[in-house]
Amino acid sequence: MSGSENVLEVSGLTVGYGAVTVVKDLNLRVRRNRIATIVGSNGAGKTTVMKAIAGLLTPSSGSVRFDGTEIAGLACDDIVRGGVALVPEGRRLFTTMTVMDNLRTGAYLRSDKAEMAQSFDAVFGYFPVLAERRDQIAGSLSGGQQQMLAVGRALMSRPRLLLLDEPSIGLAPVMVDMIAAIIETVSKAGVDVLMVEQNAALALELAADAYVLENGSVAMEGEAQALAQTDAVRAAYLGM
Ligand code: ATP
Repeated sequence: MSGSENVLEVSGLTVGYGAVTVVKDLNLRVRRNRIATIVGSNGAGKTTVMKAIAGLLTPSSGSVRFDGTEIAGLACDDIVRGGVALVPEGRRLFTTMTVMDNLRTGAYLRSDKAEMAQSFDAVFGYFPVLAERRDQIAGSLSGGQQQMLAVGRALMSRPRLLLLDEPSIGLAPVMVDMIAAIIETVSKAGVDVLMVEQNAALALELAADAYVLENGSVAMEGEAQALAQTDAVRAAYLGM
């Protein structure tokens, strides 16, 4: 199935917290070499979808197929090992540890030293500032650098699909531009990307395909540029 057009196919996904269902019967796909995004307001369920794909929440029903293999309900370690890495909302770095040690935690499932060295090289290629600051404590980095480190840590597991939860949140505009450029670079390097964003303008500009999530269900979907032209999206998400 690796030749399929879809790297990720989510069908009928229903997931929540205990007895509370947050996401209902959700369908989405990430096509190969096309950045996909989920936009939506606070509490729409975007993070919940990402956690379910990454194995941090167990769906109550539905299917999540990655490269043709069912991954719904697998442990998150197995999902990482299979090639899916999550950059969580709020970054969740080990702020008292160094840049290098944070990056090492992203490769905790790997033991091959040569491959590790290649991964460090790749991450430092994307983010030269992290190489300069490799021995610095993560908590002392700027917000933008911390987001780079969070993305770098996820890349250390050599994912084929990167899940980015609110990569631009809390960043200064110049850093938002930088993160956007990095997402494009990562995507062009062959890592597929699904990103969740409250900044719909940014997300719809970066992504090829988009889903609008409202109350845990897909309210609209289509090519990102086309959606950005619709009156409904312009009024509700682009402030026009
Ligand atoms: P945000 O941008 O605010 O994170 P979101 O679209 O990512 O929004 P989610 O974080 O997925 O939304 O939350 C969706 C709903 O699930 C919200 O109503 C929220 O209160 C609820 N929720 C989130 N986490 C939990 C939890 N751990 N336990 C119970 N309910 C939760």
